[in-house]
Formats: sequence, C-alpha cells, structure tokens
Amino acid sequence: MCPGRRRLERFWDGQRLKFVWNKLEVLSLDGRSRPVALTMNGRQYRRGLDGNCKEIVRVAGPTERDLYDAVPMAASQMDDLLREWSQRISSWMPFEVEDWLVGLRRDARNFCSIYQPVSILPPDQYRSLVFQLTEGCAYNRCSFCQLYQDRPYRCKDRQSFSRHIGRVLEYFGPALPWRRGVFLGDANAAGISTARLSEALEQIRQSLPCDGTDQQGAPRHPLQFEQVSSFQDTFSGRLRAVQDWRQLRKLGLDQVHLGIESGSSAVLDLLRKPIESGRVVEMINRLQQADIRVSLIFLLGAGGRELAHSHVHGTLELLQRVQLRAQDRVYLSDLLVHPGSDYHVLSQELGITPLTRWECREQARTLRESLRYEPPPRGPAVALYDVRQFVYV
Ligand code: SF4
Repeated sequence: MCPGRRRLERFWDGQRLKFVWNKLEVLSLDGRSRPVALTMNGRQYRRGLDGNCKEIVRVAGPTERDLYDAVPMAASQMDDLLREWSQRISSWMPFEVEDWLVGLRRDARNFCSIYQPVSILPPDQYRSLVFQLTEGCAYNRCSFCQLYQDRPYRCKDRQSFSRHIGRVLEYFGPALPWRRGVFLGDANAAGISTARLSEALEQIRQSLPCDGTDQQGAPRHPLQFEQVSSFQDTFSGRLRAVQDWRQLRKLGLDQVHLGIESGSSAVLDLLRKPIESGRVVEMINRLQQADIRVSLIFLLGAGGRELAHSHVHGTLELLQRVQLRAQDRVYLSDLLVHPGSDYHVLSQELGITPLTRWECREQARTLRESLRYEPPPRGPAVALYDVRQFVYV
C-alpha cells in the first residue's frame, strides 16, 4: 500500500460518507455525493446546494476567541479542490471526477428550480429539511435587512406547496438521512393564518409519516421530521391565541424563532422594526404555554456606540420579563451593515459609530454575564450566531 493510501480513512455512518486525510482534512458526501463538509490545507470550505461556495477564514484579533469571515469563492475554485480530493480517494470513488463535477452543477440548477435562495436559517437548523411555504418577507422594510429583497412575498396554496414538498423529497432522495428536523421558510412562515399553517403541517406529516412514538406516545420520525420550526415576526397580524398555538404544536410545530433584535425602542426605530416589547413578552408567554420552544435573536452592535447603553439595557430589561426554559435559546448575532442600506444611510446621518467585531463580542459578554442564566442543560443556551458563515449545504 502506498504511503498516501495509509493516510486515508473512510467512514459511512448511514448519513454520509466521510473521508479523513492525515487525521486532519475531511471530505464528507451526502447520500447523493454532494459535498457537505470540506477542509483542505488547514482551511474550511462550504459548497451550498445552490452551487455558491465560501471559504471560512479565521480572523486574527486581540483576544483568544477566534472570529471568522466567509469569503465567496468561484465555483471553479471549488471544482479544483474537489479534483484534488478526488485524487486522494480515487480508489474509492465510484465515478469519474469530471462526471461528478458536471453532475454537481446540474444538481445545483435543479435545486435553484425548486427553491428560492435559502437566505438564512437559525443556527440550530442548518441541517434541517427546508420547505418554503412562504417566499420572501411580507414586511421587507427593516433598514438593515437585505435577505429577501430579491423576491416578492407569497404564501403557497395547498396544491403549490404539495408540489414543492414532492420536488424537495425527490431532490434529496437518498441524501435525506443527513437531514434533521424540518424548517419552514421563508421569513415569517409561522405568521400566516392558523388554518393555512395547520393545513401545511398536515401536508408535511402526510409526506413524512412518523413510524414510532416516544415514551409519552407522541409521534416520532427517525430523522426528527416531526419537529418543525420556523421564523415569525413579532409585530404583524393579531396575536395568536394559546389554543391555536397548542393545535399547531400537536401538528408538529416545535420551535419558533423570533428576530427581536433589541429591547431598546431607539434602536428599533433605527432598525425600522415596529416591535413593541409588551407584545413580544405576551407572544413568548403564549408560545411557552403551548409548549413550543422559543429562540430569541438579538443584534450585537445595533445602534452603534451611541446607542449601545440603551441597546444593552433595553435588551436585558426585555429578557428579564420572560422566563426562558432550558429548551429555549438566545442567539446573539452581529449586525451586518450593508453599504448603501437604509441603516447605513440613517446611521451616517445620525452620526452613529459602528461597533467593531471585537466590541460586538464585548457586548455579547456583557449580555451573557448580566443574564445569569443557569448553564445548559439546566438553563437556556445563549449562543453567538454568525450569519456570515451560513450556507445551506
Ligand atoms: S428582518 Fe425580518 S421582518 Fe425585517 S425585513 Fe428582514 S425578514 Fe422581514
């Protein structure tokens, strides 16, 4: 056996085929030979199902905690990396590398014909099976957000969602075992009418039937597809009654992610997000009464240096008005200011100084320490959420 081969290990765990080179570098392929993890020469790369690629780059800084940037890569650069990897695993590759690359490009086009861009997912949902019940954001006016500006808002009707589910399941096929849970996109899918959301959850359940139950007799799917999660905004429409949330919980809605961003009304004005804290608190209480997990997302650095005090204190005040449980989450995500965005223009007009990434980390530390939650698993996790690195792989 040549020395090169001795350094290669291969694992199949029923979800993905994993090659490890020199105990350090990894190539993982899902059940359809799509790369779901790739490291090489000490670097980490991500290839989205839509064919977009990023290199995750470590940013050196003044503390021991790492920061990462995600640098877009040309598809041809990713092809070169995959060619190089294919030489390492040639004896175990059941296909020609050029055929594989052509197949991946065809696969990406197919993905883009089924999905609108999957712009973002909550960090605990990166492996979810995504169904886009809605497309875009009905509000779409937050000053900092560019996630859905490329598409009009619409909610799929029964027939159209049924076709979408069918195409998604066909697309993933043997790659389904790598997925965990279901995420309903896009921005505010949990905010549609209870009747339509119930119907959509039924459609999912019929397409992905549970074949077991837990100790309490609740239905369970081996890939956790009975657990559905979604974003919901906290300001549009009427507050849903607890009994309606309970009905949705029975149909599989397990977790709702709320982009609250800040507890400071001055910061929310700047973000142009019409949130009212009393309503947010009531919404969280109702979700919890229905035994739905909540994940609350706040923006680090929102309002810059000038509004930092108001942002931190308003956010802490809001969080102190709710009782988060061990199964709930708080996510802290750096505000990304896009040049030319309304937030950028407004904050320049108001003389707002943006926080550096290190200052955002400091703000995260202040929030965490002030919250004094019991550490998981007894208390809720408070985690950083770096949207730069997101790629739906
Ligand atoms: S932050 Fe949320 S509500 Fe605001 S525009 Fe973006 S997706 Fe819509």
